[in-house]
Amino acid sequence: MQTTVKSLEGSRQELFIGGQFRAPRSASYLQSFDPTTGKPWYEFAEANAEDVDAAIASATEAFHSTAWRRITPTERGKLVRRLAELVLEHADELALIETRDNGKLIKEMKAQMRAMPDSYSYFAGMADKLQGDTIPVNKLDSLNYSQREALGVVAMITPWNSPLMLLTGTLAPCLAIGNTVVIKPSEHATASTLALAELVVEAGIPAGVVNVVTGTGSVTGEALTRHPGIAKIVFTGSTATGRRIAANAAANLVPCQMELGGKSPHVVFSDVDIERAVNGVVSGVFAAAGQTCVAGSRCFVEESVYGDFLDALIERTRRITVGHPMDEATDIGPLALKSQLEKVEGYVASGVSEGATVAIGGRRPQNGDLGEGWYFEPTVMTDVTNDMSFMRDELFGPVVGVMPFTDEAEMIALANDTEYGLASGIWTRDIDRAMRFANQVDAGTVWINTYRSAAYMSANGGFKNSGYGRRGGFDVMREFSRSKNVLIDYSGAMQDPFVIRLK
Ligand code: NAD
Repeated sequence: MQTTVKSLEGSRQELFIGGQFRAPRSASYLQSFDPTTGKPWYEFAEANAEDVDAAIASATEAFHSTAWRRITPTERGKLVRRLAELVLEHADELALIETRDNGKLIKEMKAQMRAMPDSYSYFAGMADKLQGDTIPVNKLDSLNYSQREALGVVAMITPWNSPLMLLTGTLAPCLAIGNTVVIKPSEHATASTLALAELVVEAGIPAGVVNVVTGTGSVTGEALTRHPGIAKIVFTGSTATGRRIAANAAANLVPCQMELGGKSPHVVFSDVDIERAVNGVVSGVFAAAGQTCVAGSRCFVEESVYGDFLDALIERTRRITVGHPMDEATDIGPLALKSQLEKVEGYVASGVSEGATVAIGGRRPQNGDLGEGWYFEPTVMTDVTNDMSFMRDELFGPVVGVMPFTDEAEMIALANDTEYGLASGIWTRDIDRAMRFANQVDAGTVWINTYRSAAYMSANGGFKNSGYGRRGGFDVMREFSRSKNVLIDYSGAMQDPFVIRLK
């Protein structure tokens, strides 16, 4: 892998099309910024419609090539497993690249990268398990069967918060099944996807099977999602962008998988160990500086323990270390974008003007050189109502609103009173109550006495404005393949088409 943090510094990165790096026909380049300093650290190409066209042409050619089409499923699985080995070999370098690009903690990114190969291996196993059915139709001397086959060229658009991890759950099964791919990573964290593309080729996956077009959403993303040559769009990002992409896709009747935003409820009942629940809530909303789609940013606490819980939450929040993402002692690093920092600040200010109180945090830290980066203190807001703007909109920052509830019916109503439906969590020792919550909450994921605990073996995705389609588990085999129905008549005769036999 040629792309490293060292080689990236001050460099110019090209597009990855047909198995090699190519200068963009657009001749346009953008800068990537280091969130700890706010300064640019490398340039990358901005693909225009012509570049996107070239990438799709390359992926289409690869899809029909004998090198990809005429290998056995088992061989394809082996190639994806080889990619898993290479990802493991380069895990720490890939982690360094992502940390430098998006400011997430090095310890978290290392853990993600080292876990990713298992996920690639799991999906590699699907390559030779794509089965159809035989159907007992009411016709004599006939055989009817269905077979599943790859879709074609799949477009994948990713956000900046965990570029490679979020890609794995769709890229790995797509390749295992035999699709080809054009990836557009976020303009705020581009480099790790380019490095991964190199590993794809090193693994022996034919040139053109994986292509990367970099650039902004408005130029590169639009060109990709309006292109008639793609078979499916997999999008991970905000709900607003998802709506736009779905509209582009509709013009060409292209199906989508949408992994969008959230405003997830996190519920605490009085019967739990407070310290454990506080750790759950803190991990649910402050991990990755709140830049996770599943962030449990609306916390509802049973009234009888509200005061004790709040004291413990504030005390635990006070002990969180905000610092440089490369420092292993850091708990919360910077936000990835300046605009993100300003957005979070704006929402805290609007919460206060709507009557909320900042119980702790609520500003940029000023100690050391943190003032230069895009850091924000972990923030607990009280005196909140569910209709305040910061409780309704996704902030994507380290801010939690905490409010009391009196009974279960009120809690369920509050939890579901949101346009989103991505995740949810509940802390209680009462299994009946936990099961009632699991059945009634409008969320694609329910965590009971835990939070942010995900597995690639289970199907995850959103309800409502959090999206549709599922990633993970065997469901993905259907997401990335299509069913074909085949009927054979072996009677040796063909009936007169104009003779209709009535019963
Ligand atoms: P974003 O919507 O701004 O951008 C995501 C991607 O879409 C980027 O690559 C961007 O360039 C591209 N894009 C933007 N406009 C486009 C357009 N018109 N056409 C095509 N592509 C376009 O999101 P973000 O700020 O990068 O990421 C944060 C969001 O992602 C949050 O809302 C978060 O909840 C969501 N997210 C969801 C999941 C999930 O699994 N549900 C996971 C991670 C992040």
